[in-house]
Amino acid sequence: MDFKQIVSHCKEYGFIFQSSEIYDGLAAVYDYGPYGVELKNNIKNYWWKSMTQLHDNIVGIDSAIFMHPKTWKASGHVDAFNDPMIDNKDSKKRYRADVLIEEYMDKLDAKVEKELKKAAKRFGESFDAAMYKETNPRVQSYLEKKDAIAARLAQAMTDGNMEELKAMIIDLEIACPVSGSRNWTDVRQFNLMFSTQLGNIAGEEGKLYLRPETAQGIFVNFLNVQKTTRQKLPFGIAQIGKAFRNEIVARQFIFRMREFEQMEMQFFVAPGTEMEWYNYWKDMRLKWHHAVTPAEKLRFHDHDNLAHYANAAVDIQFQFPFGFKELEGIHSRTDFDLSQHQELSGKKLQYFDPERNENYVPYVVETSIGCDRMFLTMISNCLMEETVPDADGKESKRIVFKVPAALAPVKVAVLPLLKNKEALTEKARAVHQLLNVHFPCQYDEKDAIGRRYRRQDAIGTPYCITIDFDTLEDNTVTIRERDSLQQERVGIDQLVEKIAPKVSMAGLLAKVLE
Ligand code: ATP
Repeated sequence: MDFKQIVSHCKEYGFIFQSSEIYDGLAAVYDYGPYGVELKNNIKNYWWKSMTQLHDNIVGIDSAIFMHPKTWKASGHVDAFNDPMIDNKDSKKRYRADVLIEEYMDKLDAKVEKELKKAAKRFGESFDAAMYKETNPRVQSYLEKKDAIAARLAQAMTDGNMEELKAMIIDLEIACPVSGSRNWTDVRQFNLMFSTQLGNIAGEEGKLYLRPETAQGIFVNFLNVQKTTRQKLPFGIAQIGKAFRNEIVARQFIFRMREFEQMEMQFFVAPGTEMEWYNYWKDMRLKWHHAVTPAEKLRFHDHDNLAHYANAAVDIQFQFPFGFKELEGIHSRTDFDLSQHQELSGKKLQYFDPERNENYVPYVVETSIGCDRMFLTMISNCLMEETVPDADGKESKRIVFKVPAALAPVKVAVLPLLKNKEALTEKARAVHQLLNVHFPCQYDEKDAIGRRYRRQDAIGTPYCITIDFDTLEDNTVTIRERDSLQQERVGIDQLVEKIAPKVSMAGLLAKVLE
């Protein structure tokens, strides 16, 4: 399905609504609807359990969104949490300078893809794409150009060189997508933090920020958690919570929002062991993704320019409908944050290592994933249109959300074959009641059975149970599986044990450990 269809499906089926829609919405802010919140909760649960349940040495916290303003001075966010912005003087539209350049590079990629497709058609079965990429002069020139731009961009970003970014936009002749003109302002740094004011303190003193990441709530609680849980290094602290960024460009639906949710885990380790743990977490996080997303749609992407706090950083990218983009970041943050907090607060944030017999500020490896981006990953990977055989043997189209059963918003739908036969509806309601203490369940009697199946397919319900006249005779029901469409006759007393293992979080977690 294309991206537009995905977005409209989300709205039509109650997954995601625009925020304050009756007032024409608020840019880059979204609300999750009844099925959306269930799916989102399941994603969070999957992440939370994989961290805190599968690891004895990871515990969770839930810290406040507001933090002491010095936090953000210490973390570097006040001075350095900026994006380079540029305005087009004709359209008055604002852009991220680095994103304009990245989009230019995406176009070069698209040109390469086009050449490859053309060549594949020309050469037929014997076509060797890798070889062609290496030898065809035109493809080579695109790739070389892209590499040169990437290197220049990385250098400019590392140096914080705004003039160079502007020069790149001019040199590459990048035009405003809206006005088509190249009438640009200078590039300026734009701080992404939202601020607000404490009620009882006037002026700068009372200035508060809405946290732009959840990580700092973990850093400032490092000793509280370590002492109260008596954890030894290495150990981790996990947190799920809202974060806020005043993004300059906020497009692509829930990919880039101004209010979003992060799932972050900071893993505290002895200095010198961080690369070992960095590699461990790269591996572990990829396994978590592989349990729900095909490997070919995921890839690692090393950072071209490291953030001020990191000595190694990699993204896990997913192939969104608009290309491979960051889904999760894994960063080796050294002792930067804890040392900074130690300095600005004047409080020691050290750990006594009984084996080394010394005190030190731990190093940190973090994994950081946007819950909303994971939601978009699930929707864009698992929502599809397909042709299936009808009840009467003909073919028909269906839209089906093949989300892993453990993440599905509704696990089971109970459907009486006919609405106006009381014996059937009564029995169906009894089966529904039997099941809804075990799983999120739906009862639906409206419309023909085929249409009801389609409704459940569209929201990703893995099992539909139909109550028919035989049920009244022998207490068996038909259970239909969403993906295979296979139907099986099962005794009502066996339903729970049949369905439970297939929809359980335990099954998914076991896959992570495989
Ligand atoms: P990007 O380069 O896309 O702006 P980032 O590198 O700034 O992302 P991090 O600071 O590493 O992102 O944040 C960790 C994770 O939080 C990201 O991998 C992403 O999944 C999520 N995230 C960051 N910004 C947003 C946003 N504006 N909307 C939704 N999710 C976000």
